[in-house]
Amino acid sequence: MAIQLFTPNFRVEECLEQIRECLEKGWTGLGFKTNEIEEQWKIYTGLANAHFLSSATVGLHLALDIFKKELQWQDEDEVISTPLTFVSTNHAIKYAGLKPVFADVDEFLCLCPKSVEKLITAKTKAVMFVGIGGNTGQYDAIKKLCDEHGLKLILDAAHMAGTRLRGQHAGHDADAVVYSFQAVKNLPTADSGMICFKEPEYDAIARKLSWLGINKDTYARTAGKGAYKWRYDVEEVGFKYHGNSIMAGMALVGLKYLDRDNAYRRQLAKWYVAALGDAKNVSIIPDGIDCESSHHLLQIRVADRDGLLQKLNENEIYPGVHYADNTEYKPYLQDGALCPNARKASNEIISLPMHMGVTQTDVNHIASLICAITQ
Ligand SMILES: *Cc1c(COP(=O)(O)O)cnc(C)c1O
Repeated sequence: MAIQLFTPNFRVEECLEQIRECLEKGWTGLGFKTNEIEEQWKIYTGLANAHFLSSATVGLHLALDIFKKELQWQDEDEVISTPLTFVSTNHAIKYAGLKPVFADVDEFLCLCPKSVEKLITAKTKAVMFVGIGGNTGQYDAIKKLCDEHGLKLILDAAHMAGTRLRGQHAGHDADAVVYSFQAVKNLPTADSGMICFKEPEYDAIARKLSWLGINKDTYARTAGKGAYKWRYDVEEVGFKYHGNSIMAGMALVGLKYLDRDNAYRRQLAKWYVAALGDAKNVSIIPDGIDCESSHHLLQIRVADRDGLLQKLNENEIYPGVHYADNTEYKPYLQDGALCPNARKASNEIISLPMHMGVTQTDVNHIASLICAITQ
């Protein structure tokens, strides 16, 4: 039977029960279960604030938009980012009218602190760190650089639901952490996400901006009674970015299983590492130091990536690639490889099948094919 890279694992009956509750109550939108998932997420991660959104992409935009307005950044001020990410990361920088500046990646495929440091200028305002595959890479060194240079640190934690660094959820010291609960991520809904600001002021602004700039509180406290209940104030031009109760209900179910599922993902990673131990021409991307990875991905590198992919496809195994170097795409096009490590990696990496339906037998089968093909 074919083995896919990802197959979402929904707990169908429990999700339906959550959705049924929303439908029977007649409340599918903002509030109700969105409040509940925010509370549960704060308890689970230990992060100070959490606001449930319709996706991680909008969360990344919101983080940059809010910092830009509040801290008076100028158009085309710079955000140092990675070329080896899903395009959402870099699109978000452009949505906010800021300029992505690409630093190179290290052996973890995360931002390399040395490369970041060289790119810091008077225009640099923030660093966008992507914990690729759930890995924390050299996050601590990046955080230190940001502190030294007064830069905001935004953690694109789309792959990192449940990742711990030295026992604590990754990003507790970041200025904003953005999670994705898209269907193939570790905590699957259909589409949703979470933004966790370190400072409560930014969380409050995010709540207003994610609902078109509407502030119901002022009227609720004062004139919002009787016939004036419909009134609300609009303080600025916000976005329609908030999450809804149907997605929140699914997220509540996913959260119950997240640590258990991640433990299985780490087990799969261990099986892959053991089974690929004899493969001479394959290297495995290591976990960061003191990182308990969510293992959204298990990535390997081989010289002839496209050849290996094709052979695996012929055997009905369908791995993925995370990611093509973003500077090869039109909006980010650069002449030649600006980040040689990222460019080289993007031609050598494969993400092996990693989901709850993959068994140890599957892993051994996939690994033995890889050993035979690459030897
Ligand atoms: C999936 C992903 C996103 C976007 O998440 P959505 O919830 O689909 O918007 C952002 N960054 C990375 C690294 C991702 O993998």
